[in-house]
Amino acid sequence: MTNPYENLLKKAYSSITEVSGDSERFVVPEAKAYIEGKTTILENFAEIADKVRRDRDHLMKYLLGELGTSGKIDANRAIFNGKFEIPLIKAIIKNYVDDYVICSECGRPDTRLVKDDRILLLRCDACGGHRPVKKRKARAEPVSENLEEGSEVDLEIQSLSRRGDGVVKMGRYIIYVANAKPGQKVRVKITRISGSIAFTERLQ
Ligand SMILES: [Zn+2]
Repeated sequence: MTNPYENLLKKAYSSITEVSGDSERFVVPEAKAYIEGKTTILENFAEIADKVRRDRDHLMKYLLGELGTSGKIDANRAIFNGKFEIPLIKAIIKNYVDDYVICSECGRPDTRLVKDDRILLLRCDACGGHRPVKKRKARAEPVSENLEEGSEVDLEIQSLSRRGDGVVKMGRYIIYVANAKPGQKVRVKITRISGSIAFTERLQ
């Protein structure tokens, strides 16, 4: 004899499984940050780390390294010493997700970081692929601490902005290059600097 209660329970469980299945879209929460005094607060730091399923200390270390500053984790927030433009923080988080989270084979985020010998690998649970975590070229290049308006620089475009401009993150700057695609090498003249954002004119 079937127990109606048990059937109900079974139904309930199967619908739960459906809802929490892997059809859920992967969206990294948008960084909520603001400048407070001489610091910059990333309000939803913990939420971002949890969503990308990475160690909070690992993400924090990356952010500090890219911003070239010191700071601390404060409960669910991250506090950076210094004033940083929000687009810069967003760009750094995007780079982190591209390098340390997204599988380059299948584009899914179901990955984990594993150490093989002394090489850090990104291993994908979805497709079984793995790759060494790439070191961004920009980091190896000499980073000019202070860009100057009127100066000329050689760049390799790293990503695309929402408006479709090429973007390069260099030191504390985000440099926008019109009509340039990721991977493209360009020579530009810095035409205007506003905070940590630099606008350019293509020379080549
Ligand atoms: Zn994969």
